[in-house]
Amino acid sequence: ADHNFDYPICPSEMDWNALYPTHWQEGSDKKVEFADIGCGYGGLLVSLAQLFPETLMLGMEIRVKVSDFVIDRIKGLREEKKDRPGGYQNIACIRTNAMKYLPNYFEKGQLSKMFFLFPDPHFKRAKHKWRIINSSLLAEYAYVLRQGGLVYTVTDVKDLHEWMVHHFTKHPLFVHVKEDELHSGNRPPFHPALTPASLMSLEAEMAEDRVLDHLFDSSEEGQKVSRNSGDKFLAVFRRVCGPTQG
Ligand code: SAM
Repeated sequence: ADHNFDYPICPSEMDWNALYPTHWQEGSDKKVEFADIGCGYGGLLVSLAQLFPETLMLGMEIRVKVSDFVIDRIKGLREEKKDRPGGYQNIACIRTNAMKYLPNYFEKGQLSKMFFLFPDPHFKRAKHKWRIINSSLLAEYAYVLRQGGLVYTVTDVKDLHEWMVHHFTKHPLFVHVKEDELHSGNRPPFHPALTPASLMSLEAEMAEDRVLDHLFDSSEEGQKVSRNSGDKFLAVFRRVCGPTQG
């Protein structure tokens, strides 16, 4: 089901104007900063749209009916809720296979946040290679994220949570941002890749990371898990510079 995807040969070949017409006026160099991978029905995008009215966000969804739904949903919001901050002009959705085409859409270091909310668990061992978090894909996520950028994962499947934490933690370009650093603004643990200056900004940033409140219940899958009183496991990872990079 993976053929006939339309995708740009590189990010600058993408028609961004079609997705963000009011932002991407001629001469604008605004780029997408947040990516919602496997965005489903778009609930997270819709709830973050007004929080960051100047930030361009892109949902990527592989199922054609689902991405069509989100595209229509955003079109409707842009028409009916023009007066809201940002007027929903800053969110868009495309149908694509995010496991294959990410570097076609984003340049090196372009993204400041990536979201993986309730990714498909692929329970069977033989299917683990289809998990959207795996060693080779982490290299791509590191490529499109800027240094200091954050990845957020939420799942109701404990085994998948542990899998994601394991893979990100062992990857040299990511550090696990622990739970107690998330809300309190506590000083994060020392990491050689973080200079004192970036530690200070990290502290400030995490203390007021406004997306955290929206990760559990904005998306449709999150709401479903809540209705079934399921568990939710959150993990946050920071893109750091590797031993051989400046
Ligand atoms: N994040 C949404 C939420 O929290 O409601 C959707 C969660 S749903 C369980 C997982 C979504 O990921 C599905 O909509 C699925 O079609 C999408 N997906 C799976 N593999 C994908 C891929 N390679 N590229 C883009 N989307 C993908």
